[in-house]
Amino acid sequence: MPLHADLHRHLGGAVAPRIFWRYLHRHNHPLAAQFPDYEEFERFLVRPRGSLTEFLELHTLVEGVQRLQNLPYFVTKLVRGAYVFESIVYLELRYSPWYRTEENLPEAERIAQMREVVRIIAQAASQTEYPVLLRQILCMHSRLPLHINRAVLELAVQEPDLVCGIDLAGPDTLYAPRLKEFAELFQRARQMQIKTTCHLFETANGFYPELLPCLNRIGHGIQIAMHCPQLLPQIADRGQCLEVCPTSYLKTGTLTELTALRGVFQRCDEAGVDIVICTDNPGLHNVRLPFEYENLLTQDVIDFSQLKRCQSAAYRHAFAWPHADPPDALLQSLVQL
Ligand SMILES: [Zn+2]
Repeated sequence: MPLHADLHRHLGGAVAPRIFWRYLHRHNHPLAAQFPDYEEFERFLVRPRGSLTEFLELHTLVEGVQRLQNLPYFVTKLVRGAYVFESIVYLELRYSPWYRTEENLPEAERIAQMREVVRIIAQAASQTEYPVLLRQILCMHSRLPLHINRAVLELAVQEPDLVCGIDLAGPDTLYAPRLKEFAELFQRARQMQIKTTCHLFETANGFYPELLPCLNRIGHGIQIAMHCPQLLPQIADRGQCLEVCPTSYLKTGTLTELTALRGVFQRCDEAGVDIVICTDNPGLHNVRLPFEYENLLTQDVIDFSQLKRCQSAAYRHAFAWPHADPPDALLQSLVQL
C-alpha cells in the first residue's frame, strides 16, 4: 500500500541509472559510446562531487538527453518506480521547463513550448496501473535571464491543475547580485496564489535570509539550523518547513557524514519547525526514499517518532495533497474495522 510523499525530487535526478543507461544504448545516443559498460556509468553518476555547482553539471548532462519527445519514456518509468519500489502515493516533481524545450528554436517558440512540456509530463504521469498523485513544481533558474524566469512563473499561473508551485534552482553562488529580482518574482507568485519554495541555505554559499519571507517552504535550509538558529523562531511563526534531502549533502560535498544532521532535527524540533524528508535526486544518488528514512534511523540521526512526524508533515506541507489527513490515518481506520 503506497504511503509516502516526496516533496523535493528533480526530474533530471529521478531516473534510475540503469533506465537512463539503457535509453542511451537503445537509441544510439552519443553518450552511449562514452559509457559502454553499465557499472562504469553507475560509478560515474553516483560518485560524490566537490561542490553543488559541480554536482549540477550532472543535471545539465541529463537535461541534454531528456527533451520534449522522450519525456514520456522517462516520466512513465519514474512514476512506476516511485509507486512499486518506494510506496509513494504523492509526488511533487520539479524541473526547469526551459531546459526541456528544443534548443534550436527561436526564443519565443521555446517559451511557448514550455507549456507543451508541462502537459506532456502530466499526461505521462497519469497511469491507472501506478496511481501516484503527481504535481509539478516549475523551477526558475539562477542561470536564466529575468524574462525567461518570469515566463516560467506565468506558466505556473496558467496551469493550476498541473503545476502546484514554483522554485528557484541552479548554482546558489549566482543568487547574490539578483536577490531583489528573485524576491520580486516570489512576491508576484504569492500574489497570484502560487506556492513557493527555493533552494536556500543548502550550502555555505546559500545564505540569503532576504528571500525567506517570500516562501511557503524552504528547499534544504539545513544551514539555518546549523549556523543561523536565531532565524528558526521566525520560520516557525511563518509555518514554513525545511525540505531536507540527506544524501544530497554527501554528494555535493556539503556534509561529510549524515550524523551532522542530528543537530538540525533537534534544533528544528525545539523551535517547532517541521522537517520533511525528501530525495532530491534518487536516480543520480541511487538512494530511494525508504532508504533515506532507514539511513537516518540506523545512524541515530532521528528515531521512529521523529520519522513519523516528518512523514505526517510531508502531507501537511504538500502544495496539492487534496485530503485533510495523510493516508496512514485511513489505514488505521481500516485496521480498527
Ligand atoms: Zn533540489
